[in-house]
Amino acid sequence: MLTNLIDQFYTDNFKDRGQEKFYVTDSAKCPRALYFKFKKYPKKDPEPRVLRIFDNGDYTHMRIATVLFGLGIIRAVEIKIPPQEIISGRADAIIDIEGKPYVLEIKSIASYKFQKLENPEPDHIKQVQLYMHYFKIPDGILLYEDKDKQTLKEFSVKYDPFIIQDVLKNFKQLKEQIDKDILPAIPENIESWRCDYCEYREECQKIQ
Ligand code: SF4
Repeated sequence: MLTNLIDQFYTDNFKDRGQEKFYVTDSAKCPRALYFKFKKYPKKDPEPRVLRIFDNGDYTHMRIATVLFGLGIIRAVEIKIPPQEIISGRADAIIDIEGKPYVLEIKSIASYKFQKLENPEPDHIKQVQLYMHYFKIPDGILLYEDKDKQTLKEFSVKYDPFIIQDVLKNFKQLKEQIDKDILPAIPENIESWRCDYCEYREECQKIQ
């Protein structure tokens, strides 16, 4: 009974904000799914359980930011990238260690993934690189927390102009496709897990 009420709360409060610009977090997403989103194709709304996972991620950020404030090393939190044409986004934090600024991106991940994590995930590297690019800060840190055990791992990231070049080229190409109503093909190397979790899977399978 109570779980139904909680689920209903999440369902009732879920707002699909639509999309007019790319988000930094889109840098690793399937271009075809982004096209469907921009064009407002019908989609499967996320389950309440998934919305609770997003909530949990937000609380992890707040909890860690509180500690960083306590350490006196925060320059800014939830800071928007400077306005420009096609991308918007908010970095988790900019911190200062021994007088040097770093873009900080915090990720809360499942224990089984955390155990195997020896390098930052490529999707997350693209995100932090974009923040570093727009804030003109050449150093970043990806901080991972194990969702079950709260163990932490951190990875340093150096600014890489080639990654930025590639990401911006892909965004530009997709923007043109959206403007010209050209549906991107299914990416050749799409990982099956992306399609398994894709909210546009049904629409995608209808159109070849
Ligand atoms: S089902 Fe797969 S290929 Fe199709 S839009 Fe979703 S992620 Fe992309």
